[in-house]
Amino acid sequence: MSQFIDLRSDTVTRPTPGMREAMARAEVGDDVFGDDPSVNRLQEQLAAQLGFEAGLLFPSGTQCNLAALMAHCQRGDEFLVGQDAHTYVHEGGGAAVLGSIQPQPLEHEPDGTLSLARIEAAIKPREDYYARTRLLALENTIGGKVLPRGYAKEATALAHRHGLATHLDGARLFNAAVKQQLDARELVAGFDSVSVCLSKGLGAPIGSVLVGSTELVREAKRWRKVLGGGMRQAGIVAAAGLYALEHHVARLADDHRNALALAEGLRGIPGLTVQLPETNIVWVEVARPLASRLVPALAEKGVLATGTSKVRFVTHLDVNAADITATLAAVRAIADS
Ligand SMILES: *Cc1c(COP(=O)(O)O)cnc(C)c1O
Repeated sequence: MSQFIDLRSDTVTRPTPGMREAMARAEVGDDVFGDDPSVNRLQEQLAAQLGFEAGLLFPSGTQCNLAALMAHCQRGDEFLVGQDAHTYVHEGGGAAVLGSIQPQPLEHEPDGTLSLARIEAAIKPREDYYARTRLLALENTIGGKVLPRGYAKEATALAHRHGLATHLDGARLFNAAVKQQLDARELVAGFDSVSVCLSKGLGAPIGSVLVGSTELVREAKRWRKVLGGGMRQAGIVAAAGLYALEHHVARLADDHRNALALAEGLRGIPGLTVQLPETNIVWVEVARPLASRLVPALAEKGVLATGTSKVRFVTHLDVNAADITATLAAVRAIADS
């Protein structure tokens, strides 16, 4: 095991002994034939939990979002998406590259939302010289922020009034649900499809699940195969996801508490401007000259983070309160030197 305190991302978690045991015991079959009982259970369970007809397991969140976009949009269509959204910024331009779908990025409000006025103004008239605006894609949490209560219902209703479909990148959906103490189902009401990551804070090694209507999921399944995401005895992966959904959701509150403790501690250190986190991601603006040396100096002290003038610390399953205390001591020592 690594001795590092790894705050680069919540993807760095390793499966716990209980999760590994569940994986070892998983019943499996060939999922391309639809024969894997563990995969089927995961897909059905998460779909039912979130109020959708069907679910589909993917090897990654990027592929899950891309297959969803390709299921919703045809060649020459466009999707409205936040300027900072993962599907726009961090997925290699896949929608455009592989789906022939044009993104129409929109600026975010400070709370992470896209204003309804901005969304409405971006929907293009049906004229031959425009791409066809087909889909609104939102993200929750976004940069660690939870979309305000009620916002998603209004935004999806607006999209539907204009004949658009709606997709939620819910990679960290359960962080939002735990933070707001709401049933995750509440947060996804109004969306036509939702992707959820099992390999972020939930702690599974691999996997994202798309939920939606039977028809949409059937279409996404075809694209998953085309994209190379048809897996065989994937029940080993699904078992980790099922274990995570049972054991690792409520504990996300620990990650939020640790993130808050980290942010509060960092606030007292000169040269740092710290936003109080809503969930498990702490953003810190670092003044020069500290900016250029903070992250490398932390690494020398066994603490990993990312960024330079804007540094990101992410808490997760493999980080505890003592690690937060040690991280604060390391940052203080570097700031003082
Ligand atoms: C991590 C993440 C994804 C998926 O990423 P993969 O690394 O491909 O699993 C999608 N959306 C958001 C918001 C994410 O944070």
